[in-house]
Amino acid sequence: MADKQVILVTGGTGLVGKAIEYVVENGEKRPNEEWIFASSKDADLCDADSTRSLFEKYKPTHVIHLAAMVGGLYRNLKYNLDFFRKNMMINDNVLAASHEFGVKKVVSCLSTCIFPDKTTYPIDETMIHNGAPHDSNFGYSYAKRMIDVLNRGYNQSHGAKFTAVIPTNVYGPHDNFDLEDGHVLPGLINKAYCAKRDGKEFVIWGTGLPRRQFIYSRDLARLMIWVLRNYEEIEPIILSVSEEDEVSIKEAAMTVIEAADFKGKVTFDTSKSDGQFKKTASNEKLRKYLPDFKFTPFKEAVKETVEWFEKNYETARKESAK
Ligand code: NAP
Ligand code: GDP
Repeated sequence: MADKQVILVTGGTGLVGKAIEYVVENGEKRPNEEWIFASSKDADLCDADSTRSLFEKYKPTHVIHLAAMVGGLYRNLKYNLDFFRKNMMINDNVLAASHEFGVKKVVSCLSTCIFPDKTTYPIDETMIHNGAPHDSNFGYSYAKRMIDVLNRGYNQSHGAKFTAVIPTNVYGPHDNFDLEDGHVLPGLINKAYCAKRDGKEFVIWGTGLPRRQFIYSRDLARLMIWVLRNYEEIEPIILSVSEEDEVSIKEAAMTVIEAADFKGKVTFDTSKSDGQFKKTASNEKLRKYLPDFKFTPFKEAVKETVEWFEKNYETARKESAK
C-alpha cells in the first residue's frame, strides 16, 4: 500500500481552495490521502508562530499553498503596500515551516499578473523576472515573484522540492463577488444580478478593450492536483487556456450578460482604469505534459458560476474587506 500522505491546502476556503476540495471530493481523492483545507481561522499565516502551530498540528507531507491577499485591479491599485507586506510574510512563513517540518513537496501559486509590463508575447515561464511589473499591482507582483526566489533557494540549499504554478485570471463558485475588491468576472456577475433585479443599467468599467485568458477554478484545481502528483520541476508552470481562447473584457461581459439573461442597457465607464492591456501567456509547456487536457468551455463555466452565484446570493462573498 502507498505511504500515507497528509496534504495541507493553505487558503483552503478561497476560490481555488474550494475548487480543489470539490474535485477531491468528487472522485480525485486517493485512499492513502488525507486532505486538510485551512482558513485564516486555523492559523494567521502572517504570524510565524501561528504558522508553525498549524504545521505542528497536521504534520503535512505535502502542501498546496494558496493563502494570500488577493484582489482585482481596483483593490490592487489601492493597497500595494499591504499586498507586498502580507504576501511576503505569508510566503516566507509557509515555506520556512514546510522546510522545518520536512514537507516533501510544496506547490505555491504565482499569477500571470506578475510578469513584466513591457514584454514580448506570448509570455512564458522563463520571463518572470525580466522587467518591472505593471504599476497597478507592483506590491502583489514583487511579493509573488519572491516565491520563485524562495523555491530556487530552498532547492539549492536543502534540495527541497518547492515549486509553483502560474494561473491566469481565475473564476468560479466561491469567488469574491465584491464589486470594488474582486476580479472582473465575479464583479460583472454581481453587477448583472443587481442590474436585473433593480431594473438598472449594467456598467462595464474601463473601455472593455483589454484582453484576458480566464481559467475556470475547477479546471485549475484538476491541474494543480496533477502538478502535486506528477510535476517534478522547480521552475514554475503556466496553467492557462490557449492563446486563441483569450477574450476582450467586452466579450467576457457579454458572456455574463447572456448567462444571467440580462436584457437591459449596457454602458462603459471609461473614467475607470483599464489596467494592463494584456498578459497573453503560452501554455506550450503544459501542453507538452498534458496534450489532451480538456478545459471547460468558457460559456459553460460562466453559466455554472452565474447559477452558483444566483443560488448562493445571500452567503456569497461580497463585502469590501481590506
Ligand atoms: P481567495 O478566494 O481570496 O482566498 C484567499 C484564501 O487565503 C482564503 O482561504 C483566506 O482565508 C486565506 N488567507 C488570506 N490571508 C490569510 C492569512 N493571513 N492567514 C491564513 N490564511 C489566509 O483567493 P484565491 O482567488 O482562491 O487565490 C488563491 C491563490 O491563487 C492565491 O495565491 C492567488 O494569489 C492565486 N491566484 C489567484 C488568481 C485569481 O484570479 N483569483 C489568479 C492567479 C493566481 P479566509 O477564508 O479565512 O479569509
Ligand atoms: P486583472 O486581470 O489582474 O487586471 O484584474 P481584474 O480581474 O480586476 O480585471 C481588470 C480588467 O477588467 C480591467 O481592464 C477593468 O477595466 C475591467 N473591468 C470591467 N468591469 C470590471 C469590474 O466590474 N470589476 C473589475 N475588477 N474589473 C472590471
